[in-house]
Amino acid sequence: GNTLASALRAPSAGDDGRLFAEQAGRASMSYGELWQGAEKMAAALVAAGVKPGDRVAVQTEKTLEAVQLYLGAVLAGAAFLPLNTAYVPAEIEYFLTDAEPAVFVCDPGRLEALAPLAQKAGAVALTLDAQGRGSMAEAAAGQAPGFQAAARAAGDLACILYTSGTTGRSKGAMLSHGNLLSNAQTLKDYWRFTAQDRLIHALPIFHAHGLYVALNVTLVAGGSLIFMPGFRAEAVLEAMPRATALMGVPTFYTRLLELPGLAEAAADMRLFVSGSAPMLTDTHEKWRAATGQTILERYGMTETSMNCSNPYEGERRPGTVGFPLPGVEVKITHPETGAELPDGETGTLEVRGPNVFLGYWRMPEKTAEEKRADGFFITGDLASRSPDGYVTIVGRAKDLVITGGYNVYPKEIEGLIDDLPGVKESAVIGLPHPDFGEGVAAVVVPEAAGAVDEAAVKAALADRVAKYKQPKAVFIVDELPRNTMGKVQKNVLRESYKGTFG
Ligand code: ATP
Ligand code: MG
Repeated sequence: GNTLASALRAPSAGDDGRLFAEQAGRASMSYGELWQGAEKMAAALVAAGVKPGDRVAVQTEKTLEAVQLYLGAVLAGAAFLPLNTAYVPAEIEYFLTDAEPAVFVCDPGRLEALAPLAQKAGAVALTLDAQGRGSMAEAAAGQAPGFQAAARAAGDLACILYTSGTTGRSKGAMLSHGNLLSNAQTLKDYWRFTAQDRLIHALPIFHAHGLYVALNVTLVAGGSLIFMPGFRAEAVLEAMPRATALMGVPTFYTRLLELPGLAEAAADMRLFVSGSAPMLTDTHEKWRAATGQTILERYGMTETSMNCSNPYEGERRPGTVGFPLPGVEVKITHPETGAELPDGETGTLEVRGPNVFLGYWRMPEKTAEEKRADGFFITGDLASRSPDGYVTIVGRAKDLVITGGYNVYPKEIEGLIDDLPGVKESAVIGLPHPDFGEGVAAVVVPEAAGAVDEAAVKAALADRVAKYKQPKAVFIVDELPRNTMGKVQKNVLRESYKGTFG
């Protein structure tokens, strides 16, 4: 059989009429329609030359037809390869050259620019637009349903998902059928998803959060979606009374907090999940004050899907990502020696489990550097664990500042700055410094224009932390640069301010 497709399909088998997704302005879709469409997509991919193991690269708007295309690629035994809609042709060229897909599906509006790149990479170019129309949809419409799924074992490749590129060039993470399935089943149980759940889906489907966490968890539970083409806070708020759950990045929650009527709308929601970037304790607290509910924060990455989660029952502790998921082992180790560290100490976070990816696509050296022989994956994140088992992500190893030989964890200083009156948020970075190697700098966003200035930040920290940890420069800005997943781009900040210390 086909490991992932069989498991995703089983909960709705024999119940074709069951609702899969409702969407504003377009017809709802039943489970029967979902899988029939997916089978036709699979047949059309095969007709276009896709064989098991081939890649199917996709850069399209978010539609239910694109979801069918994802499932169709899985049914055909291909590796699904979704690409961020923000990527420009030069970036697409890199991904197509790197992945050499058999088929590339893009928006018809981009076909002219992208078709030559697809051709160069040896891919057949097809289209799918924001209404689910295009040559891919037409090719599928001409196929008969009842596609015989390609046999795929747990260890076979199901997708290549490129990382967000927050710390450097995106890497293609190879995830197997078993990786995706184990994580979906674990999360369904941990977060108590059932066929009664209706999830607000406002995340992009080119990233692990929206594609695997949100879609696969819903499918293995046999639940339904309120499917949105993108995030609009008003639309999410309006949908809440008909929904049971929301999965979002922290910016979803800060935007929702600005709207009137949140408490009433959220009253019957069962679960709010946040991840992909750290949520400020302040946001957790404001959400609890506004709705009486506690956001459940979890931690994952493209390479591993989800690793840690706060509990469904029991204390959801702000500032932490909770416990390792069942079946996932977490270890905190010394960055140089690799020796395991005691509770409370900050070190490298390593994970092992059925969720950990096969390796980076065509990067065997990088894979060998980050995956140990015993199966532990070195995440690149720094973390600590409390004596009662809660894991706190301290930041990325690459963002650690080393000044005059001393380590400074940006999160410690950001926490102090964020607590100052007039400060909305901050990012602490290391900049090249002639004497110290790196010097600490802080980029600060005020609550309102003029609410805080450089002198106030420096003065406030003067007797709070050791001199070497204090920012030697403070920049006041309107907002921090973020990528589409709401992640602060510290590499952009480091580049902007690199000449500061000469
Ligand atoms: P790249 O690997 O290309 O630099 P990226 O690491 O941002 O990009 P993703 O795989 O999308 O790409 O993101 C995973 C990272 O997101 C984690 O390694 C971690 O740094 C961060 N992250 C995810 N969830 C949380 C969370 N709840 N709290 C803190 N950080 C988180
Ligand atoms: Mg990463």
